[in-house]
Amino acid sequence: MPSTIYLDHNATSPLCETSRDAMQSLLQDDGSWGNPSSPHATGHAARIRLEEARETVADFLGGDAHEIVFVSGGTEADNLAIRGHARAASQPGHIVTSAVEHPAVLEAVAELERIGWEVTRVGVDPSGLVDPEEIRAAINPKTSLVSIMAANNETGVMQPIEDIAAIARERGVALHVDAVQAAPWVSIDVDDPAADYLSISSHKLGGPAGIGALWVREGAPVAPLLAGGGQEQRRRPGTEAVLLACGFAAATRAVQADADRTRRIRALRDRFESEIARRARGVRAVRAHGAAVMRLPNTTSLMAEGLDNETLVVKLDLMGIAVSTGSACSTGSSRPSHVLAAMGLTAEQSRATIRISLGRATMPSEIERAVDAIADAIGPTTHAARGRTDAARKVS
Ligand code: PLP
Repeated sequence: MPSTIYLDHNATSPLCETSRDAMQSLLQDDGSWGNPSSPHATGHAARIRLEEARETVADFLGGDAHEIVFVSGGTEADNLAIRGHARAASQPGHIVTSAVEHPAVLEAVAELERIGWEVTRVGVDPSGLVDPEEIRAAINPKTSLVSIMAANNETGVMQPIEDIAAIARERGVALHVDAVQAAPWVSIDVDDPAADYLSISSHKLGGPAGIGALWVREGAPVAPLLAGGGQEQRRRPGTEAVLLACGFAAATRAVQADADRTRRIRALRDRFESEIARRARGVRAVRAHGAAVMRLPNTTSLMAEGLDNETLVVKLDLMGIAVSTGSACSTGSSRPSHVLAAMGLTAEQSRATIRISLGRATMPSEIERAVDAIADAIGPTTHAARGRTDAARKVS
């Protein structure tokens, strides 16, 4: 039986060889398992490894090593940026975010609202874009933070972070960028556009799950969310995960070394979309959400009108193709996607949408097989679905 074609890299990516090799060699190295805070040679060896990993991750982001806080992943990085920023403030203020953020941001912001912060959630246009001018209009004298994602996990739509950063700078407001999905594809430089906090997650980059980083610009306020020791410059207590940090750092190096990744994977993704559109012509209306604007090169949010995404994902799974109904984080709930709803799509259109996300190692032959399987699975529409599709065509 052919192996699974894994097209769900926005949920997580398999461990890359560079990361696995780095962790394996560390496991064989006797001095690497120590506690970096210990005063003896074993602790010192672990400290050296940890600080090397920190340098590498800082280099990946264009920042300084002392600005990197190792955390457990993207969710914690987002929480530390937003709730850590708030905890450092003397009184509740105002935060601006968008309606399409990841739940790690939306729930952290909701938590602030419960403790007296004011929140503005700006909307998006039908292609999924935030209007920077709406952010400018939302900023008031109490605003101390704007939190906007670099790229959306469901659609891949990339936000105009340069313009948003310029507005935040001009108004003297801090900016948090959730770059968890953008990091594998877009070269990041924390100074351009200038941010104050930036989140990344190892397992989206081909590193191990269980580690990520929040980059905090020197001087940007952040108070720890946990009570405990003084690790990570008092910003994140707990014994550091040296092995995971080294695997994470190695993964960032592998991403950086693959300079051709964006061009290569965009070409494959575009071929996938045009082949699906060609095969569906005259059979069923299909469209990729956000296709008219800047998107990550690896993501397709594909709507095939009249289909039920949960049934389709199971059907494809049985055919050996792993895709998702939207974000893995909302799996288990059949609620329509908050991202697609914010883009103006109906619950029915949301349920007709699947997410296909490629990885750096995705092969042309896998895309060919996926096109065949998906074109087969979405097949000719039923009579009832065709009626809805025709109606949808008339209004679009
Ligand atoms: N932010 C975005 C945009 C994401 O896509 C995700 C995960 O899918 C997260 C944050 C959370 O990252 P983690 O799974 O590492 O907690």
